[in-house]
Amino acid sequence: MIAEEIHNITQALPAGVRLVAVSKYHPADAIREAYAAGQRLFGESHAQELQRKHQELADLQPEWHFIGHLQTNKVKYIAPYVHLIHSMDSPHLLAEINKQALKAGRIIPCLLQLHVAEEETKFGFTTDEALAYLDSGEWQQFKGVSIAGVMAMASNTDDTRRIREDFHRARLFFEQLRRDYLPDAAELSMGMSGDWHIAIDEGSTLIRIGTQIFGERQY
Ligand SMILES: *Cc1c(COP(=O)(O)O)cnc(C)c1O
Repeated sequence: MIAEEIHNITQALPAGVRLVAVSKYHPADAIREAYAAGQRLFGESHAQELQRKHQELADLQPEWHFIGHLQTNKVKYIAPYVHLIHSMDSPHLLAEINKQALKAGRIIPCLLQLHVAEEETKFGFTTDEALAYLDSGEWQQFKGVSIAGVMAMASNTDDTRRIREDFHRARLFFEQLRRDYLPDAAELSMGMSGDWHIAIDEGSTLIRIGTQIFGERQY
């Protein structure tokens, strides 16, 4: 079942789009099953849960992606091994990731989380906030992080036109980021179980899929 879904999804991906299997709230055995089917990128959204799975699966070489809101006091647990942090949602967090990355002797790639959905949420930069931060230049002093692109979530709605508009705004911001600030930024992370086809149409390079692969979350 897990293997079949991974196969179905990866078969449908155009060149340049990769699948992050979102394994949050699923046991390490489910990750083993996906890994055996060839999946290598896994997304988790809680630092302690990721830490535990990282230890339980030390015999494998998954690429761990952090996709949830990350509290600054938890960065130290994942800094030694996390591959990409999709959810860099504040200047304060980027400063802490930089600090912990330098301690670990690493450069950690991060995606700027852009808030484009209609729901009120505390997390993510508005376009204006993101541009103000980029203009501040603060991030340029950080030697332990690189801003590798943009992450966004669409509104939680059945209105596919609205979802497409949200992804489109993220895409336009991503293009502006590349044009005016970071020509090497390569990743646009968007698309979940319910909306990944639209996200790919709108230029996603990383889709983050949980439920479609692993079923309903288990705890
Ligand atoms: C849980 C989660 C996903 C996966 O959502 P599904 O609907 O289960 O595919 C993707 N992105 C983020 C940020 C998440 O928290």
